[in-house]
Amino acid sequence: MAAHQRGAFSLGLDIGGTKTHGLVLDPADRVLAEVVHPTRRGPDGIRATALEVAGCLADGLGIQPAAFSSVGIGIPGIVDHTNGLVETAVNLDIERTDLAELLADGFTVPVRVENDVKATALGAVVILGTRPRDLCHVNLGTGMSTAAVAGGRLIRGDRNGAGELGHFAIDPAGERCGCGQRGCLETFVGGRHLTARLAGLGLDLAGLGTAVGPVATAERDRLVGALATGLTLVVISYDSAAVTLGGGVLRTADWLLPAVRQTLTERAASSSFLAGLRVADRLIVLPGDVPVAAIGAAVVGRKKGLHARHDLVRSQS
Ligand SMILES: [Zn+2]
Repeated sequence: MAAHQRGAFSLGLDIGGTKTHGLVLDPADRVLAEVVHPTRRGPDGIRATALEVAGCLADGLGIQPAAFSSVGIGIPGIVDHTNGLVETAVNLDIERTDLAELLADGFTVPVRVENDVKATALGAVVILGTRPRDLCHVNLGTGMSTAAVAGGRLIRGDRNGAGELGHFAIDPAGERCGCGQRGCLETFVGGRHLTARLAGLGLDLAGLGTAVGPVATAERDRLVGALATGLTLVVISYDSAAVTLGGGVLRTADWLLPAVRQTLTERAASSSFLAGLRVADRLIVLPGDVPVAAIGAAVVGRKKGLHARHDLVRSQS
């Protein structure tokens, strides 16, 4: 392969608890190849899975893995992006693993690693194009986590802790959260807490939208109200032009977002401050059939992150 083609293949791997989504982007962020394999757990399993997915993608493109111009990985858990160290990723059975080092001999370029929600925020900027110059992604999965991009860069904060809004406590007398506090947003809107709570009441998340009776109504109000509060907090915190949403809770409860929009609209009607925030207008549900997290992982791999064109809106404004 000619040397000038070497910049053409950005590999992105989104390593999840059950499956690993791999793809290759070209310099214009088009997906050249894409595969999904089951994830094997533990450090050895993840290494094997990552190399297998990379090999499969390379074969499909008729290239060697050495031809990948960059390699990026998104993975759940606490990740030190500066050195590729994954502190904990409970669902993957790994603890304090230097993932970049573990995969180093499989590639000829450095492997860059990032938390999967942060990677998804970068992917969301790519799929939405240049429209949102600033964007915050909210993931409603087993828990609630957020990641914000401003001017094409992730907002990390001093200790990489920016965006842990799921652990913002809104009810001091609420349920105990895994973080040790009570009444965190996550205990209201996170899938793990919701599923357990609703099952204990004889309800389920998908059916809650149409369930009748005072208990169902109270649970619906509790969830919708807390999510509306959480999204308002996101907008107050970051003032992002777009707030993207993803995760299993929204896929399961297709009734939820319309209800949240309605609540946000009602709250805005009685507060000029809230009306000015236009929270409902900023919400964008990411399409379920686009591999946003893996696209973001490919962006993580590039040293410069998002291409300059994603910063153009800011410099022109
Ligand atoms: Zn918490």
